[in-house]
Amino acid sequence: MSNQIIPKSFQVLGHKYRISYKNDLGYNDGCLGRINFSTKDIHLQPFKDSYPVAPTEVEQTYCHELVHLILKESHEDCYDPPLHSREALVDRIASVLHQILKTSKYEK
Ligand SMILES: [Zn+2]
Repeated sequence: MSNQIIPKSFQVLGHKYRISYKNDLGYNDGCLGRINFSTKDIHLQPFKDSYPVAPTEVEQTYCHELVHLILKESHEDCYDPPLHSREALVDRIASVLHQILKTSKYEK
């Protein structure tokens, strides 16, 4: 699974998060991604012939899970429901984040 923006792991606030691919995530959970705040795992549904997911969709799902994490770690739990659990908000922010990451240019 080659991908420009999805790493194997990253660290945030002293915790290492690992990203891995689960072939049956879409079928079993009905979603393309999942983040586990306890185990610090992000699972993504990869493309399979039996479960066709566009590469850009996998990236957007990764960004979506990142936004869940960012909002959770922001401790904005005074809102009801908490911001990190508002799927529509998470999706909108993730879409912007994905566009930024995909169009970023760096000095060579
Ligand atoms: Zn979500």
